[in-house]
Amino acid sequence: MAGKKCPKCNQFTFFVNGRNGECKKCGYKMQIPANEGKGGKGKKCLNCGKYTVFDNVCSNCGARYK
Ligand SMILES: [Zn+2]
Ligand SMILES: [Zn+2]
Repeated sequence: MAGKKCPKCNQFTFFVNGRNGECKKCGYKMQIPANEGKGGKGKKCLNCGKYTVFDNVCSNCGARYK
């Protein structure tokens, strides 16, 4: 399974788990901002149908959930 590109060592060994990303090669860690989800990581928004709901707010269409 390929990871994302690590900003530090430029290898595709950067894996994101929820809000936390970590490079398996160099150990670089960073927090992923909620809006950086780019789909597939948030909950499904009932309004726009995209998986961009973080902390009960859809970062795509702005719908709010309680
Ligand atoms: Zn790295
Ligand atoms: Zn939405």
